Amino acid sequence: MAEDCLFCKIVAGEIPSTKVYEDENTYAFRDLNPQAPFHVLVVPRQHFVDIVDLGQDAAASAGLIAGLRGLAEQESLDNFRTVFNTGAGVGQSVFHVHAHVLANRPMTWPPG
Ligand code: AMP
Repeated sequence: MAEDCLFCKIVAGEIPSTKVYEDENTYAFRDLNPQAPFHVLVVPRQHFVDIVDLGQDAAASAGLIAGLRGLAEQESLDNFRTVFNTGAGVGQSVFHVHAHVLANRPMTWPPG
């Protein structure tokens, strides 16, 4: 657990969250400021700063993808967008890697 990491504290249950899904490697909870009717954050239990940092650990990377699959199966999601903001310059505000999973509204491509 990284010191002063919001999402480490959420995973540890020290800060409340609305859990949607969990497994041995991942924890998924509702975003406080949803950008779609379904907006869930999926995080590895282990602390990584961003997706580049996570990518150094093949097992943890696979664990996060498996968590996304588990969430999609549980919630019967077959159309959804997954976003990893990487770096403050594109809006990353919490430096514990997280997948935004967005669904249940029309979405354009390419994104703005
Ligand atoms: P990002 O800007 O990609 O780092 O995304 C961070 C996300 O975390 C934002 O969408 C916030 O709304 C969300 N967020 C921040 N604090 C909390 C919290 N305590 N519980 C749930 N979501 C949060």
